[in-house]
Amino acid sequence: MRDAPIRILLVEDNPVHQRMIRGLLEESRRPRYEVDVVDRLSSGLDRFRAGAVDLVLLDLILPDSEGIETFLRFFSLARSTPIVVLTSLDDSGTAARAVEAGAQDYLLKARMDSSVLMRSIRYALERTRARSMEWSSPAFRLAHQQFLKAAQLMDLDDNVRQRLVFPARAQLVSLPFRRDRYDVVETVFGYRVQHILTMGPTKGGVRYHPEVGLGEVAALAMWMTWKCGLMRLPFGGAKGGIRIDPSELSRSELQRVTRRYTAEIVDMIGPDRDIPAPDMGTDEQVMAWMMDTYSQQHGHAVPAVVTGKPIELGGSPGRKEATGRGLVYLIREAARHIGLPLQGATVAIQGFGNVGSNAAHFVQQLGARVVAVSDVSTGLYAPDGLDLGDLRHHTELHRVLRGYPRAERISNEELLEIDCDILIPAALENQITAENAERLRCKMVAEGANGPTSLEADQILAERDIFVLPDVLGNAGGVTVSYFEWVQGMQNWIWTLEEVNRRLEQVLVDAFNRSMARAERDNIDLRAAALIEGIERVTGAMLSRGLFP
Ligand code: NAD
Repeated sequence: MRDAPIRILLVEDNPVHQRMIRGLLEESRRPRYEVDVVDRLSSGLDRFRAGAVDLVLLDLILPDSEGIETFLRFFSLARSTPIVVLTSLDDSGTAARAVEAGAQDYLLKARMDSSVLMRSIRYALERTRARSMEWSSPAFRLAHQQFLKAAQLMDLDDNVRQRLVFPARAQLVSLPFRRDRYDVVETVFGYRVQHILTMGPTKGGVRYHPEVGLGEVAALAMWMTWKCGLMRLPFGGAKGGIRIDPSELSRSELQRVTRRYTAEIVDMIGPDRDIPAPDMGTDEQVMAWMMDTYSQQHGHAVPAVVTGKPIELGGSPGRKEATGRGLVYLIREAARHIGLPLQGATVAIQGFGNVGSNAAHFVQQLGARVVAVSDVSTGLYAPDGLDLGDLRHHTELHRVLRGYPRAERISNEELLEIDCDILIPAALENQITAENAERLRCKMVAEGANGPTSLEADQILAERDIFVLPDVLGNAGGVTVSYFEWVQGMQNWIWTLEEVNRRLEQVLVDAFNRSMARAERDNIDLRAAALIEGIERVTGAMLSRGLFP
């Protein structure tokens, strides 16, 4: 624990609250707090400019500034210093907006005691420090913002809220693998993160991408937890990955790096512990190598250690296309809800991998017309509709869309802004932001990717009456059929494709209806409603198990 005092700037005009907070902080012997108190925004900004402030406690209602404006003015000056917003019961909506805009935490003055206050300060400082290192990632910030917003809306127990912000376990490994040129050995970073271990084993994909980092993997693990909770699956969330560009590897290099990564995390995974699956940059072959490496170390075949594996190894019928298929089941429900006929509807899809290409196929089966697709190499546009079979044939031959002759070339940015009925982001995080949300020309955003929309963009889309089918719901078909695969693996029992699809549809439509009903009842957006459905399930499980020891 640090010996130097923590320097707090308290901006609060109510003398009773000033005395209470100062008193609570000055009671503490370790860590020690030095508290400077000012009662106006202008004097707070002046004091902050003078330096030597570790954290700001900020009342939002001051004599010279009120509401979110107070926070924004401070935040524009103090971006790298944590700000904890102080709020009264009747003002908690503004606090939620401050958290969305970047505040580290909020505290209700009426419920404040010394342990709540000091913990909030300690965690805010720790989070700021952690984010500036390995954890730093826009996805992790987004996952935090979304969670804190949902926690605020559902008035989540403070003990639980603090527990869920960071994952329960995270492993970072550096691992070597041999290139095809025998004397060249590369060392890369690999990750496996398990967010919460309460409900059973953890479950989540493995991503190979040059931008993978601890923060991104942790964000994806957290989203998996809410997704499993929302779908009522007996799993916590997990995610893993290697910071590498798989398109630059030969097949045998891909195999070697996969096997070494699996060996490095072998103690963390297992059918009763943590079950990996494919994500961006990995596929059923990668899962087969992971299963084989794990099985070699255990002396017998353990197919249930991964899902999304080849059928002949115990993979489930329907798993490969489950995320795209599931997304389209939900697009159908959402379209019904907003009165959008799918017959003749136009669709643009960012990302033409597993999720994007399958979504394209299934949405077309419902009568829609896919007019634009893109991948890492290019975007393609054909207003009368793209020939999907022809496109797939092209990507099988050339791996990417570049060079496809029968469509107009467009950029990824242009694709997002194309005039269409349904836009499906199915590639990366952080694609729809405050910068481009105003220019979107669709009626619905159906999120196949994880975290494609920033919180600011959510707000803009809501104001523009564009329906957002959020990722936690939209792409949950993958983990749902992964769950079916795991059940089949544990029971050595194979279901038929019809059985898988029927159950998938049931689970997804039920989650959609519950989320929609909550959104309408509580007058909140569908993302917040779906997250709250998931978080409630998880916290219910945590509270019924109780705390060890
Ligand atoms: P994938 O590797 O099969 O496909 C990814 C696609 O995105 C590729 O076409 C790639 O070229 C494209 N892409 C990469 N960078 C891009 C860029 N900068 N601009 C445009 N396109 C780009 O991956 P996937 O399994 O289809 O996953 C896509 C998204 O869906 C990810 O966010 C993943 O987390 C999410 N997801 C996947 C599953 C699943 O079952 N595979 C389940 C849930 C969520």
